Amino acid sequence: MNLFDRHRQLLRRKNAPAAAAREIPEAVFASCPGCHASVLKSVLQTNRYVCPSCGHHFPISARERIRQILDDGSFRELDARLSTVNVHAFPHYDEKLDTASRKTGMKEAVICGTGTIDGIHVAVGVMDARFMMASMGMAVGEKLCRLIHQATRKKLPLILFSASGGARMQEGILSLVQMARTNAALEEFSEHGGFYISVLTHPVTGGVSASFAMAADIILAEPEALIGFAGRRVIEQTIRESLPENFQKAESLQEWGFLDAIVTRGDMKKLLARLLRLHRGRKS
Ligand SMILES: [Zn+2]
Repeated sequence: MNLFDRHRQLLRRKNAPAAAAREIPEAVFASCPGCHASVLKSVLQTNRYVCPSCGHHFPISARERIRQILDDGSFRELDARLSTVNVHAFPHYDEKLDTASRKTGMKEAVICGTGTIDGIHVAVGVMDARFMMASMGMAVGEKLCRLIHQATRKKLPLILFSASGGARMQEGILSLVQMARTNAALEEFSEHGGFYISVLTHPVTGGVSASFAMAADIILAEPEALIGFAGRRVIEQTIRESLPENFQKAESLQEWGFLDAIVTRGDMKKLLARLLRLHRGRKS
C-alpha cells in the first residue's frame, strides 16, 4: 500500500462514524409533511402512524390497516393469489406489475377477506396505494366483486377502505368496465339488505371515486384525505378559475354533504363497531 492509499484509508475510517450518524436519523425519524417535525418512527408506529404533534395521517399499507381494524388473528384472506394479465400487451406493464409485487409482497392492489370487528363478522377490502397507486384493473375489480358476492351470500356487512389513483390505464376499457361491475355487485348486495360502509383514505380519485367508493350506505373519510374525480390542475385549466385551498379535501366534501363523517384513525375501529352494532340491532 502506498502512502496515498494509506492516507485515503485513514480518512475513510475518520469519516465513518459521521456518515453512520447521518444515516441513523433517517432510519429512526420520519419527517411529518403536516408540521415538518421529526417524529420517532417507533412513536409513529404505536400512534397508528398519526403525527402526535399535528394529527397528520401518514399513509399505511393494507396489512397495517387490517391489523388496526380487525380483531387479532380473525382475518381470513380471499383470492390472495389472483393477479391480472397484460391483455393489451401494453409496453412495460409486466415490469411495472413485477416491481409493485416485489415492493409490496402483494399480487394486486387490494386485499380482501373476512374477519371480526369487536366480535362482529364482516367482509372487508383494503386498497394499498403502494401497488401502482391502487389503480383499479381487472384483478382489483374481480377481487372486489367476489368479496361483495361472498358478503351477499353470507349476509355479512361490507367495509371497503379505498385509496386509489383511479382506473388502470394499461388495461383500457377492461379497467373502466370494473366501475360498472363493482356497482352492479353492490346493487345486488343492497337489494338483499346488505349494509355497506365505505372509508375513503388519502387519496381516492378517478374511477374509484366515481364508482364503489361513493356508493355506500355510510361514507367515512380520514382527515384531510384528497377525494375527487379529475385533478385540481385539469379543472382549473378547464374552468379558468383558481380553486380554494381546501378543494377536494375531506373537510370540504363533508361541508357539501358528500361524506357522513371524518374519523381519525384512533377512533375508526370504535366507530365501525358501533355502526355495525346499530345495524345488527335494526335487523333483529
Ligand atoms: Zn405533524
